[in-house]
Amino acid sequence: MNYIQSRRIGDKIYQTVAWRKLRQYYYGKVHGICERCGEPGNVVHHKIHIDESNVNDPNITMSEDNLELLCHTCHNREHKQVHEPLREGFTFNADGELQYEDTGRDTNQH
Ligand SMILES: [Zn+2]
Ligand SMILES: [Zn+2]
Repeated sequence: MNYIQSRRIGDKIYQTVAWRKLRQYYYGKVHGICERCGEPGNVVHHKIHIDESNVNDPNITMSEDNLELLCHTCHNREHKQVHEPLREGFTFNADGELQYEDTGRDTNQH
């Protein structure tokens, strides 16, 4: 799976109302604190990363058991282990998921 496919797959989830509600709920449940370092968290991360084999499985995408609130530092660390090396032009969006950063566009999402 390449990075572009990964972005498309994530978009199926992250643009839904159901996801936004779940994300908000989970954020409140863990009091907005990064579950790894105790700093303010800002990314609801899927422990089992979403790919084409599980994107249609709500037990993965919409299960709070598969979620973890992380700060950007911990989240970047987590994804770097998977996506190393992070290619130039790729970044994490406001939901903390990998995406391609179009040049010339406002990408002030962090
Ligand atoms: Zn952290
Ligand atoms: Zn993540």
